[in-house]
Amino acid sequence: MQDRVEHHFDGRSTGERSVLNAMLRGALLKCPACGIGAMFHRYLKVSDHCPHCGEALHYHRADDAPPYFTIVIVGHVIVSLVLSLEMAYRPALWIHAALWLPLTVILTLLALPPIKGALVALQWALLMHGFDPNAKEEMDDSYEPALPDDKGT
Ligand SMILES: [Zn+2]
Repeated sequence: MQDRVEHHFDGRSTGERSVLNAMLRGALLKCPACGIGAMFHRYLKVSDHCPHCGEALHYHRADDAPPYFTIVIVGHVIVSLVLSLEMAYRPALWIHAALWLPLTVILTLLALPPIKGALVALQWALLMHGFDPNAKEEMDDSYEPALPDDKGT
């Protein structure tokens, strides 16, 4: 869709942003702007800029939304499977524990990156936080967190 991405200052592209297209690209762990560069440089670490097109991705504020949606989705899958197995076969408790604990961990670890990718892409497509190329910086460089003074208070 956007082969020719025009960049505003600080790597923020201008032009139309499709929410669905961006979220699909994000769910595939790709940059929402170009769909080619990797969004993450480590498991859940979003790259500051897309390695392909240079789109600024560090403006995301995914915070705890990805774990929240992951818990909701994985929880519904696992609980429905647990109840189905229990209703059908009534297996011993150790079988439940041996099945569902590892499956829950595996599904959670598999679901987190695409969910986080889709949410970061959603923020990008909706021009949330600093993703709007026409907005001023939300937090300028003069912001400094309060640090304890020399007395340790
Ligand atoms: Zn890109």
